[in-house]
Amino acid sequence: MLTAIRGATSVAADTPEEIRGAVRELLEAICHKNRLREDDVVCILFSNTSDIRSLYPAKAAREAGFARAALFSAAEPEIDGALPLCIRLMVLTEGDGRPVHVYLRAAASLRRDRVHFSVALDGPSGSGKSTAAKQLAKELDILYLDTGAMYRACALKALRAGLGEFTAENVAPLLKELDLRVVYESGAQRTVLDGEDVSEAIRRPEISMAASRISALACVREKMVEMQRAIAAEQSCVLDGRDIGTHVLPDADCKFFITASVDVRAKRRCDELRAKGFAVDFDTVRREIEERDRGDATRAVSPLRQAEDAEYIDTSDLTAAQVVALLKRKIQEKV
Ligand code: C5P
Repeated sequence: MLTAIRGATSVAADTPEEIRGAVRELLEAICHKNRLREDDVVCILFSNTSDIRSLYPAKAAREAGFARAALFSAAEPEIDGALPLCIRLMVLTEGDGRPVHVYLRAAASLRRDRVHFSVALDGPSGSGKSTAAKQLAKELDILYLDTGAMYRACALKALRAGLGEFTAENVAPLLKELDLRVVYESGAQRTVLDGEDVSEAIRRPEISMAASRISALACVREKMVEMQRAIAAEQSCVLDGRDIGTHVLPDADCKFFITASVDVRAKRRCDELRAKGFAVDFDTVRREIEERDRGDATRAVSPLRQAEDAEYIDTSDLTAAQVVALLKRKIQEKV
């Protein structure tokens, strides 16, 4: 079985140096995003617009170390309105993985639908990450996956099953029969548990603490992370949670660690719950946030932690719109 990966890039001028640089960059990105080593590549087929004359892209690939693959270059016909100085390729590899196609530089505009990127947004409760992630997904036209909702649904299932204490022994059997689906309605995530839409039910304040407790179990995390990775592999997305940058998507294109002072976070959570009609008191919410922070940050499996390559952002003095604008600018600079 062969997998075909598409890609394209462009050069600023028809010079051998430009072509070498662009081909190397494209092949490195393809290998990185598809987790390939040079030896996994069976064949690379290049085509280039006819204004590229100074070097065969296939020769640039050989010089970049792809010497074992069968390489081939061909010039394209002159097509009116075609992006100039453009190099396209198809990489064939052994295996039946899901290909991640890569379009760089000016060629990114050719297939916006094919440009696959992921954004990891981690941080404690009330940091503003889910509000930002939701709006970012809308503006960038990518998928938003609220991973906290998945842990909340697991907690709801366990509470409904009458469990008080959560242990690997009593939760594992529930996971075997767990029917949890994440679906999208007009772009909004709905969480469906055993055929029932529980999107509102999982927002109840008592579910927050239960989610934090159940998410400390390795068996729960394994199952959720597997689902999250499968969803993220399908399309460009922004995932928010506690372990996205460190564990779920360690190769995410953009990683942010978002936080705010405990008082600001407690106030945001109070406003959110009150807007939904829950009568909550600030001190209790603040105490629960601190308790959840402690639990999330000190658990043995995938604790809440900033990934080394994540950018730290304190949102205490920023409005939601400012956070979105800041993240969007940083993402667009990178992908
Ligand atoms: O983000 P949210 O408050 O909805 O998450 C509920 C709980 O689920 C968190 O307190 C945390 O314990 C857990 N969680 C997690 N890993 C994630 C997302 C959420 O452990 N990726």
